[in-house]
Amino acid sequence: MASGKIIIAIDGYSSTGKSTFAKLIAKGLGYIYADSGALYRAITYFAINNGFIDMDGKILKQSLKRILPKLLIEQKTNAKGETNTFLNRANIERQIRSQRVSDLVSYIAEVDFVRDYVDVILKGMGVQKGLVMDGRDIGTAVFPDAEVKIFMTASDEVRARRRWEELKAKGEAVSLSGVLENLKRRDKIDSTREKNPLCQAKDAIVLDNSDMTFQDEIDWLNEILTKRFGLFIES
Ligand code: C5P
Repeated sequence: MASGKIIIAIDGYSSTGKSTFAKLIAKGLGYIYADSGALYRAITYFAINNGFIDMDGKILKQSLKRILPKLLIEQKTNAKGETNTFLNRANIERQIRSQRVSDLVSYIAEVDFVRDYVDVILKGMGVQKGLVMDGRDIGTAVFPDAEVKIFMTASDEVRARRRWEELKAKGEAVSLSGVLENLKRRDKIDSTREKNPLCQAKDAIVLDNSDMTFQDEIDWLNEILTKRFGLFIES
């Protein structure tokens, strides 16, 4: 830890507010934020558009495997602090958040060679430390030595409502029950897949934010960071 910078790994179930929390932490510490799910979403978006996955989640694995190394997937944060995902230099941030991509992403994320490909990119982001990354296997597989590991959870109803509000605000016509069903299905596939399933790292601290505001979450983490590392998240 020569630079004094650390890695903060945030894992947890779908729509527990991981990315919002991670962004606030990164901004307040002057760290880089990385959204690992966006990479799986970008590959899913590509697979849908090129006929490599059908609507039942059946994947043409050999074709996808051949083309994967040729894709250029990048994450860039602009001056406004917004993080966008680019596929072959096109900004696909809006497209990867669609319900269609959400419905299929966990099938893509189950594939071993996809995970290996994404892991190489994610690990490269941590070389300099000073990183906050959210996902499903960050504390267990991508950065098992991360200095701080947080496992986030919230009630099903709270999670579904948050995601539904988000989609509604973007003009996507989806039902609350449909969103809830998607969350549960993704959690199940993510938690039961063979390679690096979603699970709580032994040394992770649990954060149930069902009844917490963003400020509550920051205050909670500040207590830990100040005591253990002398760090403080400015908000
Ligand atoms: O975080 P987000 O909901 O955008 O992630 C989308 C999907 O990507 C997850 O449901 C999961 O299937 C996959 N994922 C994963 N491992 C990660 C991050 C995301 O398998 N580290």
